[in-house]
Amino acid sequence: MFDKILIANRGEIALRVIRACREMGIASVAVHSTADADAMHVRMADESVCIGPAPSSASYLSMPAIISACEITGAQAIHPGYGFLSENAAFVQMVEDHGITFIGPRAEHIRIMGDKITAKDTMKNLGVPCVPGSDGGVDDVDQAKRVAAGIGYPVIIKATAGGGGRGMKVAQDEAGLEVAFRTARAEAKAAFGNPDVYIEKYLQRPRHIEIQVFGDGKGRAVHLGERDCSLQRRHQKVLEEAPGPAISPEERARIGKICADAVARIGYAGAGTIEFLYEDGEFYFIEMNTRLQVEHPVTEAIFGVDLVRQQILVAAGQEMEFRQEDLSIRGHSIEVRINAEKVPGFSPCPGRITQYHAPGGLGVRIDSALYDGYSIPPYYDSLIGKLIVHGRDRPEALARLQRALGELIVDGIDTTVPLFTALLQEPDIRSGNYSIHWLERWLDQKFG
Ligand code: ADP
Repeated sequence: MFDKILIANRGEIALRVIRACREMGIASVAVHSTADADAMHVRMADESVCIGPAPSSASYLSMPAIISACEITGAQAIHPGYGFLSENAAFVQMVEDHGITFIGPRAEHIRIMGDKITAKDTMKNLGVPCVPGSDGGVDDVDQAKRVAAGIGYPVIIKATAGGGGRGMKVAQDEAGLEVAFRTARAEAKAAFGNPDVYIEKYLQRPRHIEIQVFGDGKGRAVHLGERDCSLQRRHQKVLEEAPGPAISPEERARIGKICADAVARIGYAGAGTIEFLYEDGEFYFIEMNTRLQVEHPVTEAIFGVDLVRQQILVAAGQEMEFRQEDLSIRGHSIEVRINAEKVPGFSPCPGRITQYHAPGGLGVRIDSALYDGYSIPPYYDSLIGKLIVHGRDRPEALARLQRALGELIVDGIDTTVPLFTALLQEPDIRSGNYSIHWLERWLDQKFG
């Protein structure tokens, strides 16, 4: 087992990894930018190294700085968290070339899944159901028109290098296709440096259902059920729950097995998430994330497992601590993402926290790097914390969420907490009846 792990991240996810390290008796190294010198992850780690100035391009994304920090501190492994370098195959390669272990899948798997056309093709060949669409990329408008006519409108044009909801455009009919196609390519080129796009049938009212998988890298893999992440704004998740209110145990077992078998066959190592759209009882693969997800705690809650601990074990060449038959679901869990944003515009509002009080009690977990007097820097993602509740069933989890939101105090800045308080009053949310379009429609109706 490693003696020391460096965490190439910041905020709540850095804390999350430090916590797992501490429970395993492993020393932790935090890295930080000059803007994060006072950040909680720096305080909580055993050691810290400043790796550059505020912009993440010069710090959290600086591969040489991070590798140097490993060499200076003698860290044997790097946990990338999510975002930043977590899905960067070149980084994994560089880390390994320096004799450091990357806590995550092999570079090859990150590369395959990082290109959505290749990912879809690979998954299709592994027997995973996919959204109907183009066979590979679409290079010009005429080809786009032929493909769209074949699958039927509406269609969505997506960047093969896409992520974070960018580079996607919907076309309702042939008249709108040309503009959508050109805008998607331009956006993809600007955002990812790669203009390649592909086309999928645009599903009308699907749910976003994702399957957590975990592989040992030696051909064994399990699934840990699904998370329903349908509550989204601009393709960004806002609230997640597990198990999915619309998924039956039979459906879970069926799609779970397909996913576990697929990643077992490619010898996948560590945590991964296979994302699907789900409509009328059918699952359609959209992408695979080769890392720990923001919303992993809802899975941890219902299965009673520590996913980061398993990631570390597998990276160290040890066995995962469970087999499929050991995994069973207990109760229901919901996570809400607390962002430093002003509702309803969702404009970021960094600033100083004048007062912070975290909720507690049975079934309540807060993953956050906030503290009294902390100044949220303006340079990074606006996610400042996650409130996760666990109850014996969904109604109990909802009641607990409402209670915990009432206890939470974050003064000095605006947050998304009022959004969740309002959502909990909605009959559709209480009954679990929502698709990926529900939240945007609700925001439109409520705030126009
Ligand atoms: P990203 O990597 O940018 O997050 P995804 O492929 O995961 O992109 O899609 C993000 C979200 O976009 C999905 O959760 C869903 O809301 C929407 N979306 C993607 N593909 C489709 C589709 N074929 N039909 C309808 N909505 C889609």
